[in-house]
Amino acid sequence: MIKAITGTKDILPVDMPKWHALEETVRNVFSNFNYKEIRTPIFEETALFARGIGESTDIVSKEMYTFIDRSETSVTLRPEMTASVVRSVIEHSLHKQQGLNKLYYFGPMFRQERPQAGRFRQFHQFGAEGIGSNDPALDAEMIIMAYDIITKLGLKNLTVKINSLGLPESREEYKKLLREYLSDKVELLSEESRKRYETNVMRIFDSKAENDQKIMAEAPLLIEHLDEESLEHFKLVKEILTSANVIFEVDPKLVRGLDYYTHTAFEIVSTSVGSQSALCGGGRYNLLSKEIGGEEIPGVGFAAGMERILLACENEKSFEPKEYESDLYIARLDKSLYNVVIDNAIKIRRNNLIVEYDYNHRSFKAQMREANKINSRFVMIVGGEEYERGETVLKDMSNGEQFTFKIDATTDIIKKITG
Ligand code: AMP
Repeated sequence: MIKAITGTKDILPVDMPKWHALEETVRNVFSNFNYKEIRTPIFEETALFARGIGESTDIVSKEMYTFIDRSETSVTLRPEMTASVVRSVIEHSLHKQQGLNKLYYFGPMFRQERPQAGRFRQFHQFGAEGIGSNDPALDAEMIIMAYDIITKLGLKNLTVKINSLGLPESREEYKKLLREYLSDKVELLSEESRKRYETNVMRIFDSKAENDQKIMAEAPLLIEHLDEESLEHFKLVKEILTSANVIFEVDPKLVRGLDYYTHTAFEIVSTSVGSQSALCGGGRYNLLSKEIGGEEIPGVGFAAGMERILLACENEKSFEPKEYESDLYIARLDKSLYNVVIDNAIKIRRNNLIVEYDYNHRSFKAQMREANKINSRFVMIVGGEEYERGETVLKDMSNGEQFTFKIDATTDIIKKITG
C-alpha cells in the first residue's frame, strides 16, 4: 500500500468546511483592504530562493526541496511566497504600471523539516505583500490585517510581537558591537550558534539552547542602536497599531533571520498550539528586489500558516464552521425511472442548486438515508401513483411538509426550494 509522504497530509472532505471558512475570512479581510490575489508557479529556479531568502538561512541551507530537472535546470519547490511575488512584479513590470501593488496569496509551501505537531513538509500559507512603498502605514497595515484575520476567527491567546531591524548601515554597525560582545564567549556557545557567529550573528538570538540564551540576555540590542530614520519609522508603526487597537509587545530579540529585512519585523504567536507557536510572521524587505536582480523597490509582507491557525481554532474551539448541506435529493421508487431522475437533476443543477441522487441503484429506503446523511433540505420523490399522473412529490426535510408538482414544472420546483 503506497502512503502519503512523511510530513504531508491529505485534507479530507470532512475537514473542508473549516478550510473554506478560513479562506473566506482571509479573502474578506484582504478585499476590504483592497489587496488583489496573485498566483505564481509552485516551483521556480533555485537561484530565486537562494538569493531571495539568503544562503545563510535555515530554509535555504537545510530545508529546500531542490532537484535537477530533465533539462539540467536546478529547480526548487517554493518554501515561501515573497521571493516569487517580487519576481513576478518585476517580471511583469507591475511596479511601473502602478506605484504600489497590494497583493495576496494562498497555497502550499514545501520545506524538508522534521515533522511534528504544527510542522509539516507540505503546508499551506496565506499572506500579503505591499510592494512599492516605504510608508510605515503599510508596515502597520500588514500587522493589522494579520491580526484582524486571526481575531475574526475567534482566537484569543495571542501576542503580537514587533521589532525594528533598522537600516543596513546601522545594523552593520550594531553587528560589529554584537560580535565584539561575543568575541570572548564564542567557545561557550552551542555549535549552531558558533556557526551563526560567522554567518548571521543576530540569529544567535533565535537559539533555544539555555546557555546561549543566558549569554544573549546580556547582549547589546539593536533597538538601542537604531538610526534616527528607523526610530521615526518604528514610532509611526507603533502609533498606527495603537490607534487600531492592536495590542503589541516590542520584542528586541525578534530577528526573523533574513538579511534583506529592514525596519519592521513582526510575529503573532499563540499559546494554543504547543511548541510551534508562531501563527504568522512578516516584515519589511526593502533590499529584496535588488537581491534577486531587479531595481530597488521597497516592500513589506507577511505569511501565516493555515494548518497552525486551524489547530489553534480547534484547540480554542473558536468557531463552528457551517456543515455542508445540499438543496435537493431526488429519490426514485423504481429503477426504471433513473433517466427521469438524471434529467431533473441536470436541469435543477444548471439553476445553481446543489442536487444529488443515488448512483448505485439502492432501495428507496437507502436513498432516503443518504438524503439525511448529506443534509439535503428537500427530497423529490419520483415514482408511484403520482408519477403515473405526471406528478412528483417534494418534501421539506426540516418539517416534513409535502408539496405536489407537475413533474416537468421545474421552475415552480426551484421556486419552492429557493423560497
Ligand atoms: P515563515 O515563512 O517561516 O516566517 O513562516 C510563516 C508561518 O508559516 C509560520 O508562522 C507558521 O505558521 C507557518 N509555517 C512555517 N513553516 C511551517 C511548517 N513547516 N509547517 C507548518 N506551518 C509552517
